[in-house]
Amino acid sequence: MPERLGEPRATPLFERVAIIGIGLIGSSIAHAARRKNLAGSIVAIDRDAEVAARVDELGLADAIFTDVAEGVKGCDLVILCVPVGACGAVTRQMAAGLREGAIVTDVGSVKGAVVAQMEPHLPANVHFIPGHPVAGTEQSGPDAGFATLFHERWCILTPSFGVDAQAVARLQEFWEGMGARIEFMSAPHHDLVLAITSHVPHLIAYNIVGTAADLEKVTESEVIKFSAGGFRDFTRIAASDPTMWRDVFLNNKEAVLEMISRFNEDLAALARAIRWDDGDALYDLFSRTRSIRRSIIDLGQETDAPDFGRRPGKE
Ligand code: NAP
Repeated sequence: MPERLGEPRATPLFERVAIIGIGLIGSSIAHAARRKNLAGSIVAIDRDAEVAARVDELGLADAIFTDVAEGVKGCDLVILCVPVGACGAVTRQMAAGLREGAIVTDVGSVKGAVVAQMEPHLPANVHFIPGHPVAGTEQSGPDAGFATLFHERWCILTPSFGVDAQAVARLQEFWEGMGARIEFMSAPHHDLVLAITSHVPHLIAYNIVGTAADLEKVTESEVIKFSAGGFRDFTRIAASDPTMWRDVFLNNKEAVLEMISRFNEDLAALARAIRWDDGDALYDLFSRTRSIRRSIIDLGQETDAPDFGRRPGKE
């Protein structure tokens, strides 16, 4: 069911917003910010001239740059939408062009490592507020974005102590304007929570699809033919962008490795229950997990539609 955004603002919240990296997340912000009149003008910055040309064709921005320092000039909000591992280098490139008092934020799926990469390059006269919209699809590139991607999804902000409260409130209003709900937490806590709710599930999907692809006794056509048995849902997640996910795992090592070791212990316990015909243990776990899905649906983070592997509706 496509979700609708509310009415646009009478006056823009920011004068000039720079979006660096026009992939799924960057283009979705451009669509949503335009539709809700959150930016007087939108500047798209992408290192790839072909992507810049496509952004122009799609009408996603008022100005398009391939040079980061040029592009951010005069912007009062700058949003980095590049893979986590590229945030440090991009911040170094843009630092000289930043306007005094600008809000600088990002959308990276890891927070601790991104803060460590970006902070040393930022001048003292800007407000740095790291962020992460917990919303996405397995698609990438400028054509993948849509205005309702963040609607009713959480956006986690991890401002450090002492950051200007007014700047935080403006960034919160920006995300809320795009339909998101805001949660504040520390960067280390974010990385731990996302390790179990997002990073390890992606790793499991990559692993199970890789294992199936390597199985010699199961032909590829059988894997595809019978995929509705459950495998298909993993293939959607395992189709996510390889660069983005490589960077997530390399930049959230500690939390991911901690969660993998807990996962391995629990998997061993399940294997033991199967070996020893402990049906009660299996039934208890499967009942608990079913109720977790119910809570996710009740919180509006998923629909009750039976097709779990579907794509979220575009408006
Ligand atoms: P995407 O569609 O692949 O877009 C990535 C963008 O970053 C592209 O514009 C790409 O430029 C640019 N880029 C890649 N490497 C770069 C580099 N070394 N220097 C400068 N620019 C570079 O990815 P996305 O899904 O929008 O993800 C962007 C960020 O959002 C990531 O940090 C990710 O962790 C975060 N995020 C993603 C999701 C999700 O589900 N996808 C959800 C929440 C947050 P080119 O055009 O040159 O390739």
